[in-house]
Amino acid sequence: MRTMSRKSSSRSSQQRYHPDVSLNLNVRGLGQSATLAINQRSAELRRQGRHIYKLGLGQSPFPVPDVVVEALRKHAPEKDYLPPSGLMELRQAVADYHSRQQGIEVRGEDALIGPGSKELMFILQLVYYGDLVIPSPSWVSYAPQARIIGRRIHWLPTELGDDWGVQPEVIEKLFREDPERPRLVILNYPGNPSGGSYPIERLKALADLARKYRVILLSDEIYGELNHRGQHVSIARFYPEGTIISAGLSKWCGAGGWRLGTFTFPPSLSWLREAMAAVASETYTSTSTPIQYAAVRAFKGGDEIDLFLAKSRRILGALGRSFAQQLRQAEVRVPEPRGGFYLFPDFGALREQLAGRGIATSKELAERLLEETGVAALPGSDFGRPQEELTLRLAYVDFDGAAALKALPDDRPARETEFLQTYCANTCAAAQAIVDWLNT
Ligand code: GLU
Repeated sequence: MRTMSRKSSSRSSQQRYHPDVSLNLNVRGLGQSATLAINQRSAELRRQGRHIYKLGLGQSPFPVPDVVVEALRKHAPEKDYLPPSGLMELRQAVADYHSRQQGIEVRGEDALIGPGSKELMFILQLVYYGDLVIPSPSWVSYAPQARIIGRRIHWLPTELGDDWGVQPEVIEKLFREDPERPRLVILNYPGNPSGGSYPIERLKALADLARKYRVILLSDEIYGELNHRGQHVSIARFYPEGTIISAGLSKWCGAGGWRLGTFTFPPSLSWLREAMAAVASETYTSTSTPIQYAAVRAFKGGDEIDLFLAKSRRILGALGRSFAQQLRQAEVRVPEPRGGFYLFPDFGALREQLAGRGIATSKELAERLLEETGVAALPGSDFGRPQEELTLRLAYVDFDGAAALKALPDDRPARETEFLQTYCANTCAAAQAIVDWLNT
């Protein structure tokens, strides 16, 4: 038997373990997700002693409501694995929640529980063999998930003047080109990164199109409870047979790190839910048991949670409007926020001035803003916008939500400006820092 010389064996092992040949093509060059990378960078800069305004990661500033924390405490000893689809009691609570909120019929067996809606979205894209159709701008992870799996991606153009929302004509143009093609369309409102929502007539028109072309609609409603007027309407009301609603605890319940997401399916898509549960059973097994028990309490709702939500919406609504107004005074274009905690402004009117400082892309804009003012934000290009468009995503969440909730009177309107300056001081200061930077 021939034995390899030491030199050649080390060369071949080097080759074998080299990323250029060993890494799956679909993940080559894939960095950390932008939202998580900016959060780590901001934390590192703070550790180094820099004053940073953390408008990068979209994390709820509010605490998990006491009644939900109490439920988690009580169920901490629960240690057994649960079924891959989730705790039946929670699936029922999620179904009841959607039925109550939206007046649609959802049964417990239609719900699927996962370790964050992000993971459920990934598994959905994995099990469903269709193109991904998403608006530009869209949340940072839909497209990379499609890329990892190897799906085709279609970006739908939108405009700032239309709250960065999708127009039915734009969708129809794409569908008409190849009407029989299987497609998964994701709509997300209140929007990340847009902060926008859709009027009911638009939802109906989009639903009619989805029905006509028989596409699967994933309605990402993770910010639904944070519609600033508390008036979120699910598109599932108008296309119940083809809509999957995605929700979870991360945003309205302040529990991003708990990692609990939910999908609810129409009965006609139970085959998709079952395929997803099969993949779950072969990958993460089941979602954390104590967290699922605590989530039952969250989805049951009640007076404490209603008050918590009403106050969260008032604070976010006032802060978003005030931030947008400040930006507009500096000639930055930004739509009025309707929900959630993001703004997606366009600095294009200042292009010449910014070019004078060597800034020609959204990446450069975000980078220089961070370096020169300490405001951490994400470039529009991370959300599918063209590199040279001067858009940014600002997550207006850098404040102590617990203190703000405590200070806000239950029913009396707070003196808005004063309240924001006191309890959302760092976020207000960030808005001012951006304006001052543009004015210098
Ligand atoms: N959805 C949040 C964001 O867009 C953070 C969580 C994440 O991206 O995984 O900032």
